[in-house]
Amino acid sequence: MENIALVTPLEPYNPYVSDPVLQRAVEREGASETDRSSLALFGAEVGSEETFSWGADANRYSPELVTHNRFGDRIDEVRYHPAYHQMMNLSVTNGIHSAHYDGSPGDGSYVARTAQMHLVSQIEVGHACPISMTGAVLPALREQPDLASVWEPRIRTRSYDQRLIEPSLKTGNLLGMGLTEKQGGSDVRANTSTAMPVNGGGPGGEYRLTGHKWFTSAPMCDAFLVLAQAPAGISCFLVPRVLDDGSRNSLFLMRLKDKVGNRSNASSELEFTDAAGWLVGEEGRGIQVIIKMVNATRLDVTNWSVALMRQSVSQAAWYLMQREAFGAKLIDKPLMQNVVADLEVETEVGTMMVMRLAGAYERGPIDDHEAAFGRLGLAVAKYWLTKRSSPVVREALECVGGNGYVEESILARLYREVPLNSIWEGAGNVIALDVLRALQRSPDAGEAFVNEIALAAGSDRTLDREIARLRQTLATTVSEADARRLVEQLAHCWGASLCLRYEPAIADAYIRSRLDREWGSEFGSLPSELDLAGLAQRACPVTE
Ligand SMILES: Cc1cc2nc3c(=O)[nH]c(=O)nc-3n(C[C@H](O)[C@H](O)[C@H](O)COP(=O)(O)OP(=O)(O)OC[C@H]3O[C@@H](n4cnc5c(N)ncnc54)[C@H](O)[C@@H]3O)c2cc1C
Repeated sequence: MENIALVTPLEPYNPYVSDPVLQRAVEREGASETDRSSLALFGAEVGSEETFSWGADANRYSPELVTHNRFGDRIDEVRYHPAYHQMMNLSVTNGIHSAHYDGSPGDGSYVARTAQMHLVSQIEVGHACPISMTGAVLPALREQPDLASVWEPRIRTRSYDQRLIEPSLKTGNLLGMGLTEKQGGSDVRANTSTAMPVNGGGPGGEYRLTGHKWFTSAPMCDAFLVLAQAPAGISCFLVPRVLDDGSRNSLFLMRLKDKVGNRSNASSELEFTDAAGWLVGEEGRGIQVIIKMVNATRLDVTNWSVALMRQSVSQAAWYLMQREAFGAKLIDKPLMQNVVADLEVETEVGTMMVMRLAGAYERGPIDDHEAAFGRLGLAVAKYWLTKRSSPVVREALECVGGNGYVEESILARLYREVPLNSIWEGAGNVIALDVLRALQRSPDAGEAFVNEIALAAGSDRTLDREIARLRQTLATTVSEADARRLVEQLAHCWGASLCLRYEPAIADAYIRSRLDREWGSEFGSLPSELDLAGLAQRACPVTE
């Protein structure tokens, strides 16, 4: 039959070369020329037809739990489709889980790695969960140097080894985390799992853990950081799946979650009975230890949201460049240009925010402003971008019409994936309240954040007005019930400042809609006098 749809797939394309906003942000935040060249090569690899097909297959064929072998012995293993292993291999061999530890703060290696994460998670984000957790474990694990000295070298290899055997015999280890229990994930102090010391316990000492974890993703990881109640209170433990003598630790996978999306990534219900675990840090300081891990995974989760926005808007624009209706390409229709322009503006601001935070996270240990800015900035971005990504992806899907709403389209997968990021690593309200906490407990964070926004002061009257309003608001005590509104205000001012300083071509559209409220409540309602065609053009991927 004749091909009359006249639309070709976006892949193969290079999502790095195609994204000048990302390229500029990566350079600005300090990634070296060598790293930037590698990103261009990596972009070609992740944008290939083969990687796209791995992404689709890893999600179409969900992982399966095998609790017992054929003789009835428990094995508690998860079997994944080969495409999942290909994705894992791609990310591990490229060092996304840990290459930044080979660099030093300020050399741009974490920025480059965050850009890699941004690129690969556009194509398949489920596997990025263990990739993120594995790298994020290290700052927490280093609280216990004797444990870190054993595990860190195993984590930092570039070898993906999927076998469930003694970690020391593997060419590379992956780590996960178990915090959430049935009675709650936000309030982890309410954890009921217990940890009893063996031979007196203490930092680095052995304990026996009994209890459960209601959500533990990537259960084929070699070990987990787990919170449990020790005699002195909630504490953090390193719990391996296989012990040094080759025997399985007493961790039992009860079920895998049947999730809305994120289907390539297995998320398990875990129970443990007298499982061996080793204390990381002091007893009773589990939250302070695990937060070092959560800070890193929160940044990745925020990054994933922007990656999902970027991929969905690129897919939509690519389709509209080819699809005709009523005698013209849809990308040339004024109302469609308004929709794409609006989505693009949101996505570009998200890209700038995430890369700015990657730079702040990397330089935080050597620069007080960066540490203070990152403390508040991460919470603002985690709340705002993980929320904004849902309507962006939904609208992008609609741009593709019925062809977007079928499982063969990557958009269907992105649509099911996207709400997750505003749940895990701190759900929306919890993060909005964290913004209030940061402002109350770390006044330097609020000051650093507003000072950074004010770097664009004087270049736009609306932003100047909003900065003054923000300073007034921050001088008062904001109630819990107003937390979401405050975070929006912070995010919009920050976004406007980034546009004015780095992407002036989108500043007018952003400020008039998001700050001056010349905007409807749906995307595609920017003021029509703007250069909508030019803005929409920015969303169109480059394929050669
Ligand atoms: C696919 C998936 C994978 C996951 N993987 C892992 C994992 O590997 N390891 C792990 O430990 N956890 C994991 N989780 C759990 C996840 O981190 C929790 O779901 C999340 O932290 C929220 O906890 P909860 O589901 O218990 O919700 P609750 O804590 O019950 O919260 C419910 C709602 O109440 C809101 N809320 C909470 N406190 C307040 C308050 N004070 N004021 C106003 N509103 C409030 C929250 O924002 C949320 O919207 C996973 C979850 C999912 C969906």
